[in-house]
Amino acid sequence: MSVIYLAEIKQLIELQKVDDERFATRQILENAPEEIAQLRKKYESVERRRDHILDKITHLNEQSKRLSSELSDDSAKIKKSKTKLMQAENTREYQAMVREVDNMEKSSSTREEEKTALEDELKNQNVLLTEIDKEYTALKSELEVKEGGLAEKIEKTEALLTTLDARRAESSKSISTPVFQRYEFIRKRLDHPVIVAIKDGVCTGCHIAVPPQVFIELQRGQQIMSCPNCQRLIFWDKHFEEEDTPVAAPENAEEQTETTENTVDKAEKNDSTKRRVKKARTEDEKGQDAETDAADTNASEEAAGADSEEA
Ligand SMILES: [Zn+2]
Repeated sequence: MSVIYLAEIKQLIELQKVDDERFATRQILENAPEEIAQLRKKYESVERRRDHILDKITHLNEQSKRLSSELSDDSAKIKKSKTKLMQAENTREYQAMVREVDNMEKSSSTREEEKTALEDELKNQNVLLTEIDKEYTALKSELEVKEGGLAEKIEKTEALLTTLDARRAESSKSISTPVFQRYEFIRKRLDHPVIVAIKDGVCTGCHIAVPPQVFIELQRGQQIMSCPNCQRLIFWDKHFEEEDTPVAAPENAEEQTETTENTVDKAEKNDSTKRRVKKARTEDEKGQDAETDAADTNASEEAAGADSEEA
């Protein structure tokens, strides 16, 4: 395994981390106005429904007013006609007048029924208005708060982006020009991210297994390679196992599938590579191992001592 190779990959992973943050920050900037636009759309739809109810109520009130005035006219007319009844000169005239009063009373009672139905409908609409008013008021204040906070949110996010840009410039300084150019070339042409781990033989960028010969070559760790499927830069996760392995967040992590046969096959290859890597370790590291072993022994002795004390 080449030391230069590992150092370069580490630098690229560091750069990718900064770019991940920049990507997430940009998403916030892009999504914030959209989020508010969605809320405004919802608010406007509720507002339209509310306006419709208000219009209905106005119309019903007007009708009710008209009916009330017609009803009072009716009763005045009926009263007048009843007075005239007394002045009838003969039975025929009297009966004609009685029929007229009857008709007037009938039409008046129809108007009365109409008014009752109208008042019922008015009550219903007022209930609907109370219900929609709750939703309308809640949405209105939510929208006011979010629209008011948007400018501040954008300002803060832009400031964060400036900081991240500075951090990016710092991280990219240590990367050699051809490697950095290769990273930038991919970044400008492909979807985020640029460099991804190969985990269990599968690219975490596109979730496709890399061909065995590519995987073997990758495990040798001699040169920076690309996924033959998605063209992203790739590294073997096991090369960074002892550290906090940075694994680029895949878009569809749940889609990772492979046959059992493949897994077994790869597990065997991984083991043999691990053995090779171990053999290649320097004397220095072996010394560290010995120290660790000694520490382990001490720890187990202490544990044994604690056991015997307890007994
Ligand atoms: Zn890929």
